Amino acid sequence: MEFEPVIGLEVHAQLKTNTKIFCNCPTAFGAPPNTHVCPVCLGMPGVLPVLNKKVVEFAVRMAIATNCQVAGESRWARKNYFYPDLPKGYQISQYELPIAQNGYIDIETDIWKQRVGITRIHMEEDAGKLIHDPARACSMVDFNRAGVPLIEIVSEPDIRSPEEAGAYLRQLRAILRYLNICDGNMEEGSFRCDANVSIRRKREQAFGTRTELKNLNSFKHVEKGLYYEIHRQKEVLMDGGQIIQETRLWDPDKDRTASMRGKEEAHDYRYFPDPDLLPLVISQEWIADIKNDLPELPEAKKARFKNEYGLPSYDAELLTSARELADYFEACVSFFPAPKQVSNWIMGSLLGLLNAEGKTIEQSPISAENFAGLLKLIQEGVISGKIAKTVFEEMAKTGKPPRMIVEEKGLVQVTDVSAIEGIISEVISENAKQVEDYKNGKTKLLGFFMGQVMQKTKGKANPKIVNQVLREKLGG
Ligand code: ADP
Ligand code: MG
Ligand code: ZN
Repeated sequence: MEFEPVIGLEVHAQLKTNTKIFCNCPTAFGAPPNTHVCPVCLGMPGVLPVLNKKVVEFAVRMAIATNCQVAGESRWARKNYFYPDLPKGYQISQYELPIAQNGYIDIETDIWKQRVGITRIHMEEDAGKLIHDPARACSMVDFNRAGVPLIEIVSEPDIRSPEEAGAYLRQLRAILRYLNICDGNMEEGSFRCDANVSIRRKREQAFGTRTELKNLNSFKHVEKGLYYEIHRQKEVLMDGGQIIQETRLWDPDKDRTASMRGKEEAHDYRYFPDPDLLPLVISQEWIADIKNDLPELPEAKKARFKNEYGLPSYDAELLTSARELADYFEACVSFFPAPKQVSNWIMGSLLGLLNAEGKTIEQSPISAENFAGLLKLIQEGVISGKIAKTVFEEMAKTGKPPRMIVEEKGLVQVTDVSAIEGIISEVISENAKQVEDYKNGKTKLLGFFMGQVMQKTKGKANPKIVNQVLREKLGG
């Protein structure tokens, strides 16, 4: 029997505001426990929340970027539950009237293109963090995170495979980063994903019963968790069993999911409008202003990179995966207008170097100008492609301009024909046996002679000239 997975994702993105959503405590990560707290985010009696306007602006940015309708009026709601990380006993969130609804994003790979609907985006506050100490058999709570702003982005159940889920999440994260509203770090928890998954028989319309997966702390875990869960559900159905709607926890050590609790229903949360906060009214002018200020987004940039620079899809996708990388590429092209060559060198050399050193493009030891300068030296025939690799490594170490390195190290390519002829004559007289073999038809030996010449010139001879002169001298 053939089954098809149906997946919908709920993403929580922590917003990069300086202060919390309803008080002016800092949001900075990594401070000593309970130092970024005040009576408001600790839920003391009698305090009142004051909305941080920046949070609304950031949410509107995301709403527009994901083609949502932004609500002129939305509401704040209390979501009630008891857990020690939630000081007020309720979380301020949005429920019936969220800030944005009915959007979509397009995800595209070389093989498929897929539109994933965005059901809704709403704003809410984060909870604190529990720290369990098995040695002392107790748990402690750090409220620094309580009140840090989040947006929750809920997708339609439009996703059909774990790979598609990964592609959707990467695209969502790229958009958040382009908008500069979330740093998108899954391991640190500033970008979190719960995955809802069910399966149905191929060609069946109705959805099956879903389970919700939690504790998916990396892209890899999202995909592995979904694979496991799809497989598990298949086995249950094939055995004649039924899927129970529940929340399941991904266990990365055992590579499996385990039941955590029955799925809670909305009524369990006793949602009701928060009487401490007015309905949120946003003017059309403000929405238009925010829209005007949006940067070029990943999808548009990718299309432009293909059209304007004639790059293949693969290159365009990779180079636009982060805004800073795309900027670096464009800066290089402004100095050296050969886009595909720039792209090859960025993908082939620079990204490998940054990866190995755990650096981002902003931390690149090689400036765009110097990077382009290196390609210019190759084009002008000053250095060969091979020597360029040496210069590149030196640039990475010292940050010096390529021309300086070439001069200091005496790496200028030998293009003087008579000098090359002299060296070739030496090589020919030292290798009489190979010369004879060559003349008797073993023309593959040309590579051997090239190698000898390169060795004598430490790789600096212009390979084109060497090749020409060699053929002349050897005859044939
Ligand atoms: P809840 O209120 O329990 O969070 P929602 O209706 O908000 O439920 O849906 C949560 C997520 O589950 C959404 O991303 C939605 O696309 C997804 N979803 C809903 N039904 C299914 C299903 N049958 N299979 C897979 N995903 C589903
Ligand atoms: Mg939900
Ligand atoms: Zn506070």
